[in-house]
Amino acid sequence: MTSVREIFETMEYGPAPESPKPAQAWLDEHDGRFGHFIGGKFTKPSATFEVLDPAMSKHIADVSEGSKKDVDAAVKAARQALPAWQALGGHGRARHLYALARIVQRNSRLLAVLESMDNGKSIRETRDLDIPLVARHFYHHAGWAQLLDTEFAGYHGAGVVGQIIPWNFPLLMLAWKVAPALAAGCTIVIKPAEFTPLTALCFAELAAQAGLPAGVLNVLTGDGDTGAAMVAHDDIDKIAFTGSTEVGRIIRRATAGSGKKLSLELGGKSPFIVFDDADLDSVVEGVVDAIWFNQGQVCCAGSRLLVQEGIADRLYDKLRARMETLRLGSPLDKAVDMGAIVAPVQLERIRTLVEQGKQEGADFWQPTWACPTEGCFYPPTLFTNVAPSSTIAQVEIFGPVLVAMTFRTPSEAVALANNTPYGLAASVWSESINLALDVAPKIKAGVVWINSTNLFDAAAGFGGYRESGFGREGGREGMYEYLKKEVGRSGGREVANGKGAARKSSRTGASSSVSSRASAASSVSSRTSEARVGTSRKRAAELDDADRSPLVDRTAKMYIGGKQARPDSGYSMRIDAHDGRLLGEVGEGNRKDIRNAVEAAHAALGGWSKSTGHARAQILYYIAENLAARRDEFARRLGALTGGDGEAEVDACVERLFTYGAWADKYDGQVHQVPLRGVALAMNEPIGVIGVVCPEEQPLLGFISLVAPAICVGNTVVAVPSESAPLAATDFYQVLETSDVPDGVINIVTGPKDSLAKTLAEHDDVDAVWYFGTAEGVKAVETASAGNMKRTWCESAPRAWMDRGDGEGRAYLREATQVKNIWIPYGE
Ligand code: NDP
Repeated sequence: MTSVREIFETMEYGPAPESPKPAQAWLDEHDGRFGHFIGGKFTKPSATFEVLDPAMSKHIADVSEGSKKDVDAAVKAARQALPAWQALGGHGRARHLYALARIVQRNSRLLAVLESMDNGKSIRETRDLDIPLVARHFYHHAGWAQLLDTEFAGYHGAGVVGQIIPWNFPLLMLAWKVAPALAAGCTIVIKPAEFTPLTALCFAELAAQAGLPAGVLNVLTGDGDTGAAMVAHDDIDKIAFTGSTEVGRIIRRATAGSGKKLSLELGGKSPFIVFDDADLDSVVEGVVDAIWFNQGQVCCAGSRLLVQEGIADRLYDKLRARMETLRLGSPLDKAVDMGAIVAPVQLERIRTLVEQGKQEGADFWQPTWACPTEGCFYPPTLFTNVAPSSTIAQVEIFGPVLVAMTFRTPSEAVALANNTPYGLAASVWSESINLALDVAPKIKAGVVWINSTNLFDAAAGFGGYRESGFGREGGREGMYEYLKKEVGRSGGREVANGKGAARKSSRTGASSSVSSRASAASSVSSRTSEARVGTSRKRAAELDDADRSPLVDRTAKMYIGGKQARPDSGYSMRIDAHDGRLLGEVGEGNRKDIRNAVEAAHAALGGWSKSTGHARAQILYYIAENLAARRDEFARRLGALTGGDGEAEVDACVERLFTYGAWADKYDGQVHQVPLRGVALAMNEPIGVIGVVCPEEQPLLGFISLVAPAICVGNTVVAVPSESAPLAATDFYQVLETSDVPDGVINIVTGPKDSLAKTLAEHDDVDAVWYFGTAEGVKAVETASAGNMKRTWCESAPRAWMDRGDGEGRAYLREATQVKNIWIPYGE
C-alpha cells in the first residue's frame, strides 16, 4: 500500500497563482505611463523607456528618463519643502512615518504583486519578507523621529538628500533610505533602478495620499545618467547609494571635496562557513536562504560556501538533493521558491561568469529538472572544487550560483573568509557557541549571522567593511548617516575647567594662531629648499641668541615602529617659531616613510586591537601622567611655536588623554531589540590602521584630540602632525617611549602634509584617513580614497579644539569604530 510519506513525495504541485489584478488596476489607472513624482504629483511622462516583467519578457509600463532639468526640479521641490519639514519637529514627523507604515500595510498586496511583476522575485518573498520589512522600517523610524530631540541632542537633519537604489530589493531599499532620512528631518530625491521603478512611484503616490507634504519625497526615474546628475547637483547635501562597488567608486570620486555627506552600501562575496559539528540539515536550509533567496541577487548573499573538509562530500550530497526539490517558475505562483532574474543583461552576466568557472576547472552541477526557457530564468547552480583565487570565487556573480571550497582549521576558515576585498556579511555554522563566537569577530564583515543567514531588521544596522562601502542602514547608527551636528550650539564645555582666564586667553591665542599657522603652512614648502641648504652656522647663530632662545637645537626624527627614524629622503625642513626665529628641523617624510609606518602600524594592530579596554585606558592615563610631568617644557615649546598659551594647551592635552582613558572601557556596543529568539549584538570594532593628518592650529592638542580616540578603541595610527609646527608632536614621542605604548601603535611621519595625506589615502593597507587641512587637501584625500573605498573623515574648517563639545566625545569614537552586528539565535 502507498504510504502517506510516498504520497507527499510524489504528489505534484498544482499552480497557486496570486492575482495580478490589483497591480494591473494601478497600472491601468495611469495608462501604464508615468512621469516623475515631484512636488507631490506626477509630472507629464516624457522621454519614456520600457519597464519589463522579466518572468514573462512582457512590457508592463513606460516611465520617464530623468534629465538634468528634472533633477533640478526635484531638488528644488525638496529644498522648498525642507524648512517646514524640519520645523514640524520630531513628533510631527513621527506621525507621518507612522502613517506611512500603516498605508504600506493597507496596500501590502498591491505592493507585493507589483514588486514581483516588476522585479521577477517570488510573491512568497515580496509578501512575506520585503513588504513586512518595509512597514517595519517606517514603524521603527517613527520611533527615532519621536526620540530625536533627546537621543540625538545637538544634531539636525543633513538637508536635501539624494538617494540612489538598486533593483534587487526595490521597495525595501527605498524604505531603508527614506525612513531614516524622513525621521532625521531631511527631504528626499530618490532614484529607483531603471529595471524596477514601479513600486517607488506607487509608494510616492500612497505617501501623498497618507498626507506626506508635497516635496518631502520626490521620485525620479531614469538610468545611471540621472543618478550621475543627482550626484553632481550642487544643492544636494548628502548622497546615499546602494549598488555595485564600481559605481560606488565613481560616486566617491564625484563627491570628493564637495562637502556632501556620503554613505555607500556596495557589493559583497560573503562567506558561508560550515564547521564539522554543524547541524547539516539546518545548514542546507540556510544555504537555500543564503544563495537561492531572490535568485542570489542579494548583496549579502552567502555566495562562497566554505566547508570543513571532513563533511564536505556529505554536505554537497545533501545540497544536491535539496536543489532537486527547489521549484522555479512564475513569480506570482505562491508555491515557487525561485522567480526570474531581473533582466536579460543580468542573465547574460551570470551565464558568462558560469562559463568562466567551468573553464577555470571547477566542478559544475545543476539539478536535473528543466529550467523554463521563456523569460529570464536561471537554475540554482553549485560549483565545487573551486580555487580560492578563481574568478567565480572572487567576483560578485549576483545570481543563484554557489561556489564551494574546503578548509581544515578555524584559522584557515577565517583566512579564506577574509580573502576578498569585500566585507559585507558572513554566516558561521557550528553547534559550538564557543567556536562560532571566536570566529565571528575575526571576520571582516559588517554583519555576521550565527547558525542563520540573511536576517534583517530595522533595529539592527546593516552595512559593510572594506570595499563593501561605509555607513550603516538601520538602528541608531543608521540615523547618524542623515544627521549633522549643529554648529555653534554644541553646548560644549571648554577643557581645563576652573581655569577660566587661561582658557579665554588660550582661545584667543588659538584663533589668532590659526591664521598665522595657516600662512605658516603655506610658506613651509617654499622654505623647504632653503632649509636644505641652510648652514648649521646660521642655525647656531640664531639659537645662540641667549635672550630669545631657551630651546635646544635639534633635528627631530620621525617615530616609526617604536623607534626614532631618519627620513628616507635625507632632507629636513626648517621649523620656525611664531616670531620667525628658527626653532629646529624635522625630517621631510616621503612615500617610503609612510610605507614603513603603515607596516609598523599593521604589525602592532593584532595585539593592540585585542588588548582590553582596561589595558588601553592604563596606557592613555600613563601618557597623560608623563605629559603632565613635562608640562613646563611642552608649554614653552608650544608657546614658542604658536605664540599662544602653551600651558593651557598642555593642560587641555592632559585632560583629553584622561577623557579617552575614561572612554577606553566604556564605548560599549548594544544588544538590539530585533524580532528574533536570540540576540543581535552590535559591537564597536576598531577600523584598523588609521592615517591621521592633523590640523595646523594647536599642534599638540589637535594631534592628541585625534590620535587618542583612534587608539582608545584599538586602532593603530600613522600620524602626520601639523606641517608648520610639528615639533610639539615630535617631542611627544619621548613621552610615548616612557608610557608603555607598544611599538607601532602610534607612528609619526613629519613632512609636507598634503602630499603625505594623499599617499596615505592611496595606500591599500590603510583602512581610514582623517584629514584636517585645506579644501584642496580634502578633495585630494577623498578622491584618492576611492581605491580601496577606505573611510574618510575630512574637514577644512578649523575646530575649536579647546571646546569639549567640538574637540572630543562620541562623534570621534564613532569615526574610530565600525559596527559589526552579530546575530545569535538560540533555543531548540
Ligand atoms: P549599479 O551599481 O550600476 O546600479 C545601482 C544604481 O545606481 C542604479 O539606480 C543605477 O541606475 C545607478 N547608477 C548607475 N550608474 C550611476 C552613476 N554613474 N552615478 C549614479 N548612479 C548610477 O548596479 P547594476 O544595476 O548595474 O548591477 C551591476 C552589478 O552591481 C550587479 O551584477 C551586482 O554585482 C552589483 N549590484 C550590487 C547591489 C548591492 O546591493 N550591493 C545591488 C545591485 C547591483 P540604473 O539602474 O539605471 O543603472
